[in-house]
Amino acid sequence: MKLTILGCHSATPSINANPTAQVLEIKNNMFLIDCGEGTQVELRRNKVKFSRIKHIFISHLHGDHYFGLVGLVNTFSLLTRETELHIYAPKGLKEVILLQMKLSASWTKYPLVFHELSSNESELIYEDDKVEVYTIPLKHRVYTNGFLFKEKENERKIDINLVTEANIDKAYFRKLKQGFDVENEDGVLISNAKVTKDPLPPKSYAFCSDTVYNEAIIPIIKDCTVLYHESTFLDKNEALCIPTKHSTAKQAATIAKKANVETLILGHYSTRYNSYEEFKSEAKTVFDNVLLSKDGKTFNFD
Ligand SMILES: [Zn+2]
Repeated sequence: MKLTILGCHSATPSINANPTAQVLEIKNNMFLIDCGEGTQVELRRNKVKFSRIKHIFISHLHGDHYFGLVGLVNTFSLLTRETELHIYAPKGLKEVILLQMKLSASWTKYPLVFHELSSNESELIYEDDKVEVYTIPLKHRVYTNGFLFKEKENERKIDINLVTEANIDKAYFRKLKQGFDVENEDGVLISNAKVTKDPLPPKSYAFCSDTVYNEAIIPIIKDCTVLYHESTFLDKNEALCIPTKHSTAKQAATIAKKANVETLILGHYSTRYNSYEEFKSEAKTVFDNVLLSKDGKTFNFD
C-alpha cells in the first residue's frame, strides 16, 4: 500500500502549498482521492500514469477538494482516453461537470460514470476481488464523506519446497491458497497448515477530511492501518474549529488513539502557519505514531 500526497493544504493554493489531492496505490488499483486545483500538474510531477486512474473519490464540494477535476477530465479526453472513469462524489458534482462540458462543447469520448452519494450512513461504494471502499460520513459545513479503503483477506502462502515434498499437483495450488486440505498424487490427504503459511494481514487506509471532531467515525475506522485525519488548526486556535467545522492536530490524535489505528498522518493545514512541526509535537502528546503529510511526499506501508 503506497500513498502519495499531491496536496495537503486547505483553502487557497500558493507556490508551495497545493490544495487536497492524494493517490493511493492498493492491490493494483490507483485511486485518486480529492482533486484540488493543480492536481494534474502534481500528478505529472509525481510521475503518476494518467491511464492508471480509473476511480476518483471526492469528499465534498468545497473548491479546494475538486476544482482540479474538470481540467483532469478534459485532459483525459485530449489524450484520447477510451477506458471508463468512475467518479464517486456528493450529489451535485455531476451537474457541475456536465454543465462545464456542455458550455464548452467538450463531451468526453470515454465513458464517464458518476456515482452520486447522499447517504448519511457508511456504505460500500466500490468492490473488486481484492479491495473494498466504504464511505465515512463526516461532519463539515456541507455534505462530506471520508473514504475507507480496505484490502480483503489475503490468500494463504504456499511453501513451494513443502508442496513439492508432499507430492501435490500444481492443479491444487488454488485450493491450497484458499485454505483447503488437498489430496496428493498418492491419494493421501495433506493438511493445509502443513504446506502453507498465514497470509499477511490485510491493510486499510482511512481518509478523513474535512471534519469537525466527531467520535461517530471511530467504529468505522477502528484498527485501520493508516488514518489520514485533517488537522487544519493547532490547539491554540481551537475556537475556530466549531464555526469552520475543522479539527486540531490534538483532536486528530485523539480520534487516532480511540480508534486504535497504527499510524496517523496529519494534513489539510491552514496556510496561517509557517511550520508544521508543531502539528506533530501537539499530536504526539496524545498519540505516538504521527507522520506529517507534505506535498510530493510518498509513504510506503508494506
Ligand atoms: Zn471543506
